[in-house]
Amino acid sequence: MLRRTPEWSSGTDFCMGTVFSQRAYGVNSRGAVRAALREVRRLEGLFSRFIESSDISRLNAAAVADHGRGARGVRVRPETLRVLEASLEISRLSGGAFDVTVAPLVALWAAGEVKTALPPDDAVKPSYKPPSDEAIAHARALVGYRSLTVDAASGFIRLASKGQMVDLGGIGKGFAADRVLEVYRRRGVVSGMVDLGGNVALLGGKPDGSPFTVGIQDPDAARGECLGFLPLKDVSAVTSGDYERYLEVSGKRYSHIIDPRTGYPVESGLRSVTVIARESMIADGLSTALFVLGLERGLELLRALREASRTLHDYRSVEAVFVTHTRAVHLTPGIADVYTPLVPLSVTSGWSIPAGII
Ligand code: AMP
Ligand code: MG
Repeated sequence: MLRRTPEWSSGTDFCMGTVFSQRAYGVNSRGAVRAALREVRRLEGLFSRFIESSDISRLNAAAVADHGRGARGVRVRPETLRVLEASLEISRLSGGAFDVTVAPLVALWAAGEVKTALPPDDAVKPSYKPPSDEAIAHARALVGYRSLTVDAASGFIRLASKGQMVDLGGIGKGFAADRVLEVYRRRGVVSGMVDLGGNVALLGGKPDGSPFTVGIQDPDAARGECLGFLPLKDVSAVTSGDYERYLEVSGKRYSHIIDPRTGYPVESGLRSVTVIARESMIADGLSTALFVLGLERGLELLRALREASRTLHDYRSVEAVFVTHTRAVHLTPGIADVYTPLVPLSVTSGWSIPAGII
């Protein structure tokens, strides 16, 4: 019997430090949504640096306990190996703008971090003092993705020096979003969407075959108010921005994304960058990298990735939407024709930046 109104199931939960919402369509959707939640919780148990028994915590603890040197490191699950290998690849491709060992700096700056978007007045923590230059220099010396060894064959990973730390905050949610779609597929779901704290991943299109609509959040407006939207199918769209999580001290806003090369929160002229890629993990890692690099160098990276060869992952069809401090929107060429603006702002596209946009 033909069903006129397709069945669907949805869920909203708190996972990986953020809101996890999902919607799956079809007769198998109920079990799929439940199984997906279990899977994300399981991955959080492997990836979180705040859960003592996680793979990442064991790695970080080993780097404190045995000074790293000569030690064999810790043995971890295949999922952790995979996300770390991708992290190292993105670290390398982005010239260290993304750095999976940035945690000592993140921890230093996060002492007073505000985790959700709040009205600016509430976001001010009067007692918070930005770290001293000495503390920043000390933490910065511990950061360097080349110090992380991932031996996929043996399953062992290790950090070279005492005090080094890995943080999957910039990429782990993307991996989890990919796994949710995997769970859906395995259970016979062919249409669904996931939003894991700004990591949107789409399985197919809507049940009627039309694309899903993914909005680009207006950084200055309430959540859900968008600058424009993209019709998308079977891809992931991941946003890194300065508006969801930040710290404001004496009127100055500090991003939760740190430039590993300076040791300071990023000030790259961007309010947000949304990356569209087939793999959510890749979109996640790259959106963090591009936020660090800024518009000009970000476009250069994306263009160079069109030719990337001998990589573990495919970077050739990655697209991006940049929103600048001047509220201008810049698109990579492949999505210029499908972006629909909702507010009257400057919208440009291409591999070079038009004059006056930043
Ligand atoms: P996202 O929201 O995906 O851009 O990731 C931001 C999170 O990634 C932060 O909360 C940190 O945990 C971590 N992070 C901050 N700066 C970097 C960086 N330069 N490279 C990799 N991860 C970072
Ligand atoms: Mg990211």
